[in-house]
Amino acid sequence: MNLAFNTNLAIGYKSNSQIARLLTENWVLNNSYCPNCGDLPLNRFTNNRPVADFYCKTCSEEFELKSKGGKLSNTITDGAYSKMIERINSENNPNFFFLTYTKQWTVSDFLIIPKQFFTPEIIIKRPALSETARRAGWVGCNIDISKVAEAGKVYLVKNTQIINQGFVQEKFNKTLFLRTKSTDAKGWVLDIMHCVDLIKKDTFTLDEIYSFEQKLKLKYPNNNFIKDKIRQQLQVLRDKGIIEFIGRGNYKKSELWKHLKFNFRKFYQEQLKLKPIILKMPLQ
Ligand SMILES: [Zn+2]
Repeated sequence: MNLAFNTNLAIGYKSNSQIARLLTENWVLNNSYCPNCGDLPLNRFTNNRPVADFYCKTCSEEFELKSKGGKLSNTITDGAYSKMIERINSENNPNFFFLTYTKQWTVSDFLIIPKQFFTPEIIIKRPALSETARRAGWVGCNIDISKVAEAGKVYLVKNTQIINQGFVQEKFNKTLFLRTKSTDAKGWVLDIMHCVDLIKKDTFTLDEIYSFEQKLKLKYPNNNFIKDKIRQQLQVLRDKGIIEFIGRGNYKKSELWKHLKFNFRKFYQEQLKLKPIILKMPLQ
């Protein structure tokens, strides 16, 4: 993976947004592998298909690319709000690649948010365009990635560091089970994963998770069995090896969880080359 864009392609173009689109798409086509099966390269949809930009010819995963100059922020601007919500509800949405790049036209962050992590609550409505705008009344949306559980942010490049491909594929594959769940069931697993995220220790008790009961009650006002739901989701996460039961209402984040939460800031490029095993790295 080469982090520099092929700027030769920009020769003859004047518009910055046009150049950015050209260079970022070209970079993905020439550098990204499929995070699901590892196949390389990805392929572009030939005719302007409205829902996705790229697909993998081996496993058929589809990807949409959003890119932006500068730092990765919590919100990413996307298209029409109603269309996005419709897509999420029909489960017809692709995986999203987010790419940020430097002023020197090199990749800074490149991550994928697998489609199963898209829920209506991460899609934020923007104000309608004003009367004087060309598309007056049109309502766009932002994707709020701060609301996505850590397990749903799979970095291929983080802070200009290339992440080990085996690690990327493992992380991507580990949450595919969520796709078979109904939107409602998936919502519960994601919410409990988010609660576990908020506990900043490796071990936690059932009572600590129960402390989120009121918050969950606000989200699910018609559910009178929140605690039962919590235990049920913890069971799901245990079955998937994401957490471990250590007895008497005590739980432990598994190596896999730590793996999913790995903090790359202290990561050295050299170590990445020498030791593909990232489990021993410091945690966030
Ligand atoms: Zn694939």
